[in-house]
Amino acid sequence: MDPLAAAIADARAKIEICSVCGNVDTRDPCTVCADTTRDQSIIVVVENVADLWALERAGAVAGKYHVLGGTLSPLDGVGPDDLNLVGLVNRARESVVKEVVLALNATVDGQTTAYYVTDLLREVDVKVTRLAYGVPVGGELDYLDEGTLSAAIRSRTPF
Ligand SMILES: [Zn+2]
Repeated sequence: MDPLAAAIADARAKIEICSVCGNVDTRDPCTVCADTTRDQSIIVVVENVADLWALERAGAVAGKYHVLGGTLSPLDGVGPDDLNLVGLVNRARESVVKEVVLALNATVDGQTTAYYVTDLLREVDVKVTRLAYGVPVGGELDYLDEGTLSAAIRSRTPF
C-alpha cells in the first residue's frame, strides 16, 4: 500500500487549480491556457473540470476554457458568488476574445446559469453562443423524448 499512498500524496501535492480558467493541472497556468497555438478568441464555458476533459477527449474545442465550478442552484444554496463568474467577465473583456460558448448541461440549473451568464456578458462586446440541442449522433427519432425532439425542430439548421 505504501507506493500507492506515496503516489496519491505526490499527485495531491503537484495538482494546482489554474488561476486563469479553473482547470486542474500540475502547472499554473494550465497546459490548455499555456498553449499559444489555441484560438485565443474563443472561451468555452463549462460547469466543471470533467466537462472540460470530455470536450478535450472529443478534440472539439480549438479555443480556451473557463470552468465555473458548478451551476446556479437556489435549492442547493449555490449563488453567483459561489461560481467563477468575475474571472469570466474579466477574460471576456480582453479585446482578443470574440466569442463565449456556453457549453453547459441541458438541465434546469445549467440553463438558468446560461441565462445568468448571458445577462452578465450583455455589456461586454463579445458574441455569446450555446451548444446546439437535438438529435444525438447515431440517435433514432423514435426513441427520443418530446423535449429533445421539439428542441431539435426549433434549432434546425440549413442542410
Ligand atoms: Zn487554464
